[in-house]
Amino acid sequence: MSLSPGSAIEISGAGPAGLAAALAIARAGRAACVYERREDVGKRFHGDFQGLENWTTDTDVLDELGSLGVEAGFDYTPFREVTCFSPDGRPREFHSAQPLFYLIRRGSEAGCLDMAMKQQALDAGVEIRFGKKLDRLPAGGIVTQGPRRADAIAAGYLFETDMADGAYAAISDQLAPKGYAYLLICKGRGTLASCLFDDFHNERHYLEECVEFFTEKVGVSMNNPRRFGGGGNFSLPRTARKGNILYAGESAGFQDPLFGFGIRWALISGAEAGRALVDDDPARYERVWKKRLRAYHQTAATNRWFFDRLGDRGYALALRKYGQEQDVRDWMKKAYAPRLWKRAWYYAVASRRNKPLLSVHEDCDCTWCRCERHRQTAD
Ligand SMILES: Cc1cc2nc3c(=O)[nH]c(=O)nc-3n(C[C@H](O)[C@H](O)[C@H](O)COP(=O)(O)OP(=O)(O)OC[C@H]3O[C@@H](n4cnc5c(N)ncnc54)[C@H](O)[C@@H]3O)c2cc1C
Repeated sequence: MSLSPGSAIEISGAGPAGLAAALAIARAGRAACVYERREDVGKRFHGDFQGLENWTTDTDVLDELGSLGVEAGFDYTPFREVTCFSPDGRPREFHSAQPLFYLIRRGSEAGCLDMAMKQQALDAGVEIRFGKKLDRLPAGGIVTQGPRRADAIAAGYLFETDMADGAYAAISDQLAPKGYAYLLICKGRGTLASCLFDDFHNERHYLEECVEFFTEKVGVSMNNPRRFGGGGNFSLPRTARKGNILYAGESAGFQDPLFGFGIRWALISGAEAGRALVDDDPARYERVWKKRLRAYHQTAATNRWFFDRLGDRGYALALRKYGQEQDVRDWMKKAYAPRLWKRAWYYAVASRRNKPLLSVHEDCDCTWCRCERHRQTAD
């Protein structure tokens, strides 16, 4: 079955993956229609800072996105320095010659990634239908509905501040079990959060521990603090295709399982899914995401397996082992670089932690297929 050439390609979800897919389709001269169940883009977020990671490949992420037709029309600030606290509270300064990540904002305000992506899509002629939930794609299309379960959660505060710009992280199970705490300050705004991979029920406790910790270590001053939070999932699918329905972004489980960075993979997978459908070659999408993302995902999942077992003493040792002189981007690139033994470990051990989200039913067209046909989404 192929998508009818004259009709619009339908996309379910106007997050970064869905909008990147729509852009790719519209730029190739085909009509794209995105359904978004909320009243605008970015409603899952609150103007909080997030990092567009730039450490997994030599290629700068903005260049890679540019090559896929995604322009950096959003506000971004390159960060080359991070202070990371080990569990004993000792700071370590990490530097990189190239940007380690680009600080961006998520939400429905001007300058946020989501709003800039929306504008690019509209300018390219994409139709976006807000307040419309789409759970079935009988003619095929792209599913980019975001996460459907939480493998990790973040709980934090947004605030205004007179602090100087800076990026801080802390690794300690007292602050964020099997995860990390972060404090990002840029141009008078701040985001402070605990990113937990375990013990989700006590998120409020860990968040307050993080506030106390960063207040003591760097003198956080928060004006008008507002709570925010959210969850994310990362499970490598066996396939991200069901006939003419392609899954991209977090709907497919594409997100770094080590630290929960999903934006880059959402944009890449969305754009590639759009391109494949325009060319009426959905099978190509399978080949492309497997080539570009699978080995990184497997490596990161293996890293996560080891990280889960480190504990506070292990984190402290790992941070000590990697000296302060080294370029932190090189160190991160090495840690994320696909290695044969990490892939072998993934298949033998680490993959058992994460069951694939997608099970393929060739005979059904519901967008969310986990053996629960026509499942009603809760939120
Ligand atoms: C608090 C927090 C902090 C994060 N920090 C970072 C970070 O620093 N760096 C990073 O790289 N990643 C980070 N992430 C992860 C990143 O935000 C996601 O991986 C990314 O947004 C995924 O994009 P997506 O397009 O796949 O999904 P989403 O951004 O979730 O978009 C999905 C869209 O689909 C819509 N939708 C859902 N169901 C339907 C339906 N049935 N019909 C129509 N529309 C539907 C939703 O309303 C939503 O707008 C963070 C996540 C959270 C929660």
